[in-house]
Amino acid sequence: MDQRLTPAALRKLRHALLAWYDENRRELPWRRDAGAYRVWVSEIMLQQTRVAAVVDHYARFLKKFPTVQILAAAREASVLAVWSGLGYYHRARRLHQAAKLVARQRRGIFPRTAEEWRELPGIGRYTAAAIASIAFGEAVAVVDGNVERVLDRMFAAAEGKEAAWQRVEALLDRERPGDFNQAMMELGATVCTPRAPQCPLCPLHTWCVSREANPARPQAARKRKQLIYGLARRNGSVLLVQRPANASLMAGMWELPILPDAQHNGAEPMAKLRHAITDTDYDVAVFTVAPARFHSSAANARWFARRQWQRLPLTGLARKILRRLPA
Ligand code: SF4
Repeated sequence: MDQRLTPAALRKLRHALLAWYDENRRELPWRRDAGAYRVWVSEIMLQQTRVAAVVDHYARFLKKFPTVQILAAAREASVLAVWSGLGYYHRARRLHQAAKLVARQRRGIFPRTAEEWRELPGIGRYTAAAIASIAFGEAVAVVDGNVERVLDRMFAAAEGKEAAWQRVEALLDRERPGDFNQAMMELGATVCTPRAPQCPLCPLHTWCVSREANPARPQAARKRKQLIYGLARRNGSVLLVQRPANASLMAGMWELPILPDAQHNGAEPMAKLRHAITDTDYDVAVFTVAPARFHSSAANARWFARRQWQRLPLTGLARKILRRLPA
């Protein structure tokens, strides 16, 4: 372990990472309910597949096979049909085989530890640790490509995967291992990205040896823009719009409708906030607007009750805004 990481520094690092995760994590459907079956299905789908591609398939899969017993009783062809489009079909076959083992040999009782999970088909070291930590709170760390990159940069050492497993095991927050693991992976996926790490936004900045190698973008003339959103409410629901599937950023995610500049008529915003995306700082204002304004809403706009939008893949900014609404 790095000499600078004293026990006190480790506590601070874990706290900073988890606080960042609590504030910035993407609301993904499998994060709503950390039941073993749901986490397991999500982890298998996420192997070698982008989050955005998994979101839809995940919902369809759980609708068709809501429990491990129903999955176990299904024909393989039905499982593959629902998996269709996700690719790597051996994952679906092994998931199906494993479901049969859990439903029949284990009488529907899921393994609890990473070691036990590894006995099932299709479950390797990473997947076993991810499920055991997220669904059962077992204090085991995970290393995927994202975590390995974060650690390589933090410690300026590309020592391979085994060294990464040892390093992250030492960093792991044993009170919240599932969240810690997801936070490390999320950080690699959204901040410490392969080509353009956003060091100034990184909660591990203080402890990272490479932070200077990725010069802070603030000095590199960050852009500043204004964003104005309309918040329309009707019978407890809010109007949201889905970003195009081919958008370069946050494709397919849901957000509040953008309000043309001139349309708030000098009214006071119901909320103001700051939001940073890559090299731009946004000054965000949200105005309450009458539902009738969206009468001719496009096909990509829909009304969602709270319990529905809470399960949607929202943009981080939309989530920030909606969280401010009174329950
Ligand atoms: S400070 Fe930069 S290089 Fe270091 S972990 Fe964070 S994003 Fe990655």
